Amino acid sequence: MKIVLLGAPGSGKGTQAALLSKQLKLAHISTGEIFRDNIRRKTEIGLKIKEIIDGGDLCPDELTIEIVRQRLLESDCENGYLLDGFPRNIAQAKALDDSNAPDKVIELYIPLQKIEKRITGRRLCSKCESSFNTSVIGDVKVCPKCGGELYIRGDDNAESVHERLAVYESQTAPLIDYYKKQGKLFTVDADLPIEEVFESVLQVIK
Ligand code: AMP
Repeated sequence: MKIVLLGAPGSGKGTQAALLSKQLKLAHISTGEIFRDNIRRKTEIGLKIKEIIDGGDLCPDELTIEIVRQRLLESDCENGYLLDGFPRNIAQAKALDDSNAPDKVIELYIPLQKIEKRITGRRLCSKCESSFNTSVIGDVKVCPKCGGELYIRGDDNAESVHERLAVYESQTAPLIDYYKKQGKLFTVDADLPIEEVFESVLQVIK
């Protein structure tokens, strides 16, 4: 099964992808996470893209498409994939269609006015990588699951959120029509508790 999770920043793609990959035993590929890992390790790619990511813009297509192409060749993708954050524009979607087209595209829909609060309240665990929101866990400093230190993503601030939303509207939202025309688009209400969204996503996949 090849699945793409589509949705605005903060719509819960990463959270749902982590749950799905566990349940369906599919490789979870998050381009944002691959880029952040490169930034953490200060690789050549990491140094090149840090400013772009912190500013809320998209990394270059050529680089992103090649990273995904290479990743999809790995053995854990033999049974399919779960793409989280890719494709982000029509050029990337066409590149994916040319080599490894998805079976289903699931749009996690959340009204735009709710997103800023979701993103600025996001906290990530430096140890187990779980994602939380201060609206649920309060303003705590350690991970409720494993005790690891919580941190705020470099691009989760009000300024880059505006840019990321503008980029989503202009470049990523056209993918909704693109996949609708292919008969592959399924939209799920993502403005609900995590478990309820997960149930709806599973219904779409089955
Ligand atoms: P995410 O973790 O998916 O919210 O991605 C964080 C940031 O990584 C984005 O705001 C972009 O700067 C970059 N990024 C992630 N995926 C892509 C992609 N498919 N194309 C270009 N840039 C990306």
